[in-house]
Amino acid sequence: MSQIIHRSLHSTPPVAVSAQGAYITDAAGKRYLDACGGAAVSCLGHAHPDVLAAMHRQIDQLAYAHTGFFTSDTVEQLAAQLTRTAPGDLNYAYFVSGGSEAVETALKLARQYFVEIGQPQRTRFVARAQSYHGNTLGALAVGGNEWRRRQFAPLLIDVVRVSACNAYRDRRADESEQAYTQRLLNELEQAILEAGPETLIGFCAETVVGATTGATPPTPGYLQGVRRLCDKYGMLYIADEVMCGMGRTGTLHAFEQDDVVPDIVTIAKGLGGGYQPIGAVLASEKIVAALQAGSGLFQHGHTYICHPTAAAAALAVQQVIERDNLLEAVKTQGARLHQQLREVLGELPHVGDTRGRGLFAGVELVEDKASKRPFDPAFKLHAQIKANCMARGLMVYPMGGTLDGQYGDHILIAPPFIVTASQIDFVVDTLRQVIVEETGKLA
Ligand code: PLP
Repeated sequence: MSQIIHRSLHSTPPVAVSAQGAYITDAAGKRYLDACGGAAVSCLGHAHPDVLAAMHRQIDQLAYAHTGFFTSDTVEQLAAQLTRTAPGDLNYAYFVSGGSEAVETALKLARQYFVEIGQPQRTRFVARAQSYHGNTLGALAVGGNEWRRRQFAPLLIDVVRVSACNAYRDRRADESEQAYTQRLLNELEQAILEAGPETLIGFCAETVVGATTGATPPTPGYLQGVRRLCDKYGMLYIADEVMCGMGRTGTLHAFEQDDVVPDIVTIAKGLGGGYQPIGAVLASEKIVAALQAGSGLFQHGHTYICHPTAAAAALAVQQVIERDNLLEAVKTQGARLHQQLREVLGELPHVGDTRGRGLFAGVELVEDKASKRPFDPAFKLHAQIKANCMARGLMVYPMGGTLDGQYGDHILIAPPFIVTASQIDFVVDTLRQVIVEETGKLA
């Protein structure tokens, strides 16, 4: 019996023993196509020789040095790489060990910015429903995933909550995309005015929503409207790209496709591709300048910030992506994936929507296509789909819907950037069989 507190306390998952390219092999010798990268982590696939070599070199030379005493060349190079490739004046980076830590860091950096510039009355964040920003208490507070928040709600800071941008679910039948977008922006402005703009720190949102509703992109113009409102009311715009960032959508940062530049950006999963635990915050010039001119100290820190071995892995991952022009592969294979999802799955009676950007795709399942009524969550359709896919040697990331029918069971697909056309065909064909089989059991 395992002595680990696993995700389920009733079962132990298969034991992974090795991985290569797009595949993971378990202790029984069974191979799985990793078409979700766990949760959109594994962007280069497994055991990439250049990344392994860079990590070995780093460990031999300097595995760790505490930031209270030293910096290291590798961390400095990673910061240079990320700030060189980021748009606008996102000229500074702060390195942590994962996504939740990155979000906590972003929230505290934003708060400290306002303290430093003499606006300490700004104490609250605006964030959206149907969102996930991590599992630590600050990140959970800004997140709008009610299932994850429920039992911890009394411990969470108060957040101004606005609607998600989810056109499939929330755009009215008689409403144009533009009118829907404007309705959301009106709601956001109203919420800002009601809360008191002078009390607000900033607006925090995933550019493409990942874990909660499955690769849900913003409507055209939505984030530009958000940017305008943040500027109008002196608020910061924090883009959480922990899941959708670092090339996953076909541009290095997903917000580049929306023609906006946030003040603070969080990145994590695809930054190190799973080779090491690492996340980061990118911050604009004005924020760091304010801290420099003020206290001269960001009042934050963890033991493992700027970890040299984690930085070596991330630097190698990012250099390979750039050198091998893998963003083009994301675009090409992403187009193939989306076309196939539309054509092969879209016609199934229980597939309500297929969506996403690049190699970041979502499939939403519904009991009734016309009314978009989700399946009863008690069926745990997502769990059945996951088990069936695993039995067929396919890893995708299905998640459940909400009791109140706000959204349904959905499947997240996020293969590595090195995925081949035939692997995409296998993903879509297998998913088709599994969806037909599992929804057939509920009919
Ligand atoms: N933010 C977003 C958008 C995420 O998708 C996640 C994880 O799925 C997190 C934050 C938290 O990251 P981590 O699980 O590395 O703490």
